[in-house]
Amino acid sequence: MTETTRSARLMDGKALAQRLVAEAATGAAQLRERTGTAPCLATVLVGDDPASETYVRMKRNRCAKAGITSRHVPLPASLSTGELVERVSELSQDPGVHGILLQHPVGPHIDERAAFEAIAPEKDVDGVTLSSFAAMSFGLPGFVSCTPGGILRLLDQYEVDLAGKHAVVVGRSAILGKPAGMLLLERNATVTYCHSRTRDLSAYMRDADVLIAAVGRPRFVAGADIKPGAVVIDAGSNPGNVGDVDFETARERARLITPVPGGVGPMTIATLLTQTVQAAARQLAVA
Ligand code: NAP
Repeated sequence: MTETTRSARLMDGKALAQRLVAEAATGAAQLRERTGTAPCLATVLVGDDPASETYVRMKRNRCAKAGITSRHVPLPASLSTGELVERVSELSQDPGVHGILLQHPVGPHIDERAAFEAIAPEKDVDGVTLSSFAAMSFGLPGFVSCTPGGILRLLDQYEVDLAGKHAVVVGRSAILGKPAGMLLLERNATVTYCHSRTRDLSAYMRDADVLIAAVGRPRFVAGADIKPGAVVIDAGSNPGNVGDVDFETARERARLITPVPGGVGPMTIATLLTQTVQAAARQLAVA
């Protein structure tokens, strides 16, 4: 193994996210000064799942620190799809709300897609509607899903050249793996999606110039799965602050790698805040 591949450089998502949140805070303050209105994010939480409560609280705390107002809408787990759609539609029509975050999951008896689709596209700062997804796939302006958007921003920060590179995305969820691959494709990477039915997964991973782990299994990607000199993005967030990549062995092979915590996680929230300020600026017609 060469000196350059012995220990990867860390991609510091925490530091970049702090900068982006500071920029969002400046944008929010300017908006408030020019229009008398601060950006407002509505957070909709169905039920009392402790993990979801924590995520929403974290997002609201970050909003508060950035001068973004948040309007919390806690709803009972017994809510019907129709009732949830109605509440989300009200927020979509409310001129005092500029962005809407509907925390996933909403409960097995609710049609989550119907609830997401009640979010007006111009307020879809979490990038969950079909309209946002379509815009992203066509390379048109719109709000991107926050975690993939944060990953691309991080790759840009570290000047990772994506054109012609083989990007392998392990995971194909609608909020993470699939859009991450589409954003990489938009940047002219050659993209391979891997998933639970992929045969000889390790062979694909070992051929990746850029490897995105979005599996939801602790330390799933081992150092031996990584091509020496690859860029490794660990989107995993498993209990105990453990990623989907075995960091210690992976860093011996990778050129650049995201830590967990402090890599992709903070970038997700930073993207949410950035998009909320952008949404408010457009709705207040000062963009
Ligand atoms: P998900 O919906 O459960 O999707 C997991 C994906 O991994 C699926 O596409 C699945 O394949 C694939 N997979 C599962 N086992 C596999 C295996 N043995 N081999 C190959 N592929 C396999 O999860 P998600 O919502 O995308 O989240 C993935 C991870 O990212 C989780 O750790 C989550 O906590 C984390 N995450 C982090 C953030 C953040 O802000 N940092 C945000 C969102 C998610 P199939 O499609 O074939 O089932």
